[in-house]
Order: sequence, then structure tokens, then C-alpha cells
Amino acid sequence: MDTGLSRRGLFGVGAVAASVLAGVTPASAATGTSRMTLRWWGNNSWEIVLPGVTILIDPWLTRFKTGTYTPAGADPRTPLTVNRALIDGYLDRGFLRAKHILVTHGHYDHLTDVPYLAKRTGATVIGTETHLSLMAALGTPEDQLAIASGGEDLTFDGYAVRVLRSLHSAVGARAQVPFPGSRPLSRRDRPRVIADLVEGGTLAYAVSGGGASVLNFGGSNYVESELAGLRPDVLLLPVGGAKVTQYVPRLLRVLGNPRYVAATHWDDFDLPLGQAHDPNGGLEVLRKAVAAASPASEFVVLDHLGSFTP
Ligand SMILES: [Zn+2]
Repeated sequence: MDTGLSRRGLFGVGAVAASVLAGVTPASAATGTSRMTLRWWGNNSWEIVLPGVTILIDPWLTRFKTGTYTPAGADPRTPLTVNRALIDGYLDRGFLRAKHILVTHGHYDHLTDVPYLAKRTGATVIGTETHLSLMAALGTPEDQLAIASGGEDLTFDGYAVRVLRSLHSAVGARAQVPFPGSRPLSRRDRPRVIADLVEGGTLAYAVSGGGASVLNFGGSNYVESELAGLRPDVLLLPVGGAKVTQYVPRLLRVLGNPRYVAATHWDDFDLPLGQAHDPNGGLEVLRKAVAAASPASEFVVLDHLGSFTP
């Protein structure tokens, strides 16, 4: 479905955005020939709309304040909250009605809203044992959970999901994973604060259907050997990756230089949905890296709820 909200979907039509993001995909590129539409909900939240089916990746609309972009960093004792009214409002308007929800990792900015969305939609949720343990403890109906470890190649009616072993962003002097850890599926104590949502392994997802394919990473890292032979039309690529050797060129090379590279996980998620703001210039760094490594790829930057069709 379409609404007025998605009409301003692509940055580049507004003067401010254009001046900040010279060289981004012009609005005319928003309508390709496939029957796949990609809508961005901020952070790494993506809605993949195919004929007859909707798939969500890391849907997180609540976006509570944590202090992530302050010098002190995120407060690990920040309580987990879900803005049900916000989510209900979009569901009532026909958005987010997913058959599948794909979880890349356990952190709060990826997983917090998934249990509620799963309950509301009846979607099957894919994640690692740790992700499923966290989501079950947060009230996700257990008969909707599907465990994955990476390597699964799954075919459904009209679309396919390939689950890939992947890696989380490496940050700080030690190039470490924030809130690391795992937990068994049998553990059911309820996560209360953001530090309780441990990473629990990281997966990436390739989704094909409607005559197009899209590959998403929820963190700024990857396992190169997992990606050999993949040729996605669209790569959803997080900003960052400074600690990862040749983060952008190595990835674009192994993927055969995808036609579209859309930025993800670039906005300050302490700000509410509807306020897409780049806190530290990561978008421009990514744009330049993509242009240098793969000049023929179109770099796409969407506004919140913006969409495009490859
Ligand atoms: Zn994370």
C-alpha cells in the first residue's frame, strides 16, 4: 500500500538533504521494474513488501532514549519499553502486517518491538537460540519462533529467505561487541533493561521475490565466505565498519557490485520515528566509500517511512 508519507521517500528532493547528501539516488530512481518495495522505518528496520506478503527485518519503532550518542554512551540500565499505540496506529493503516520477521541480533534497537509485533501479526520470527530465548521471555508466542544458525536456504510461497552467518559491528579500542553474550532457549527470565538484550550471535538475510533480491546486514561486519556467489539487486548496508578491514570494497566486490546500495542503521535512534538525523557524518563516509569501490552502484538514502522499488 502507499500513502502520502512515502511520497517524500527519497532524500535528494529536499534542499537540505540534497546539500548534505550530494550524489544520492535521485527521486526518479525510486520506481524500478520489480514487484518488491522496500520501506525504511529507521535504524535497521525494513519492511519488504512483495505481492501477497510482507517481511520485516529488525522492526523497532519505539526508539526510546538511551544516551547512545552522548559521550557517556548508552545507559545499560535503560528500561525496555514498547510504544504499543504507535505500532497499533501503523498496523491499523495497513503497514507492518508481516508473515515473517527476521531478526539479525538481540540488541534493544533491533529486538525490543518484535515480540509485540509478532503477537499482533502472527508472523513467524527467525533468529538464533539466544534471540528466540529473549523473545519468548518477552512474550512472543512460542509456536511462532523458528530457530536458525546461518546457512539455511528457505523457500516459501512466492519468496525465499536465505539466512547467513554474520558478525556484529566491532566498536571501541578492543573492536568488541557491545552487550555480548548468549542464553539458552530454556531460560525464560524476562529482560528488563537494554543490557539484558545480549547480542546472541548475528545473522544476515537475503530475501528474494517479486523479481528482485535484497541483502541486509544489521551490523557493520560480515563473513565474506558466506557471501560468495550472492548477487543481490539491493544491499542494505550499515554505516560504520571502521575496524573492519576494507569494510565496503571487500563486501561490494564479493557481491559483484550491487545495482543499489541503500544506507541503513545510520540515524540517531534516540530521536523518535519521523526524525531521521545522522548524528556523526557516517552517511557521507559511507557514500564516498561506495562511490570509490563501486561507481556504478546507486547510493540510496531514504527518509523514515520512505520507500523505493528496485
Ligand atoms: Zn547491535
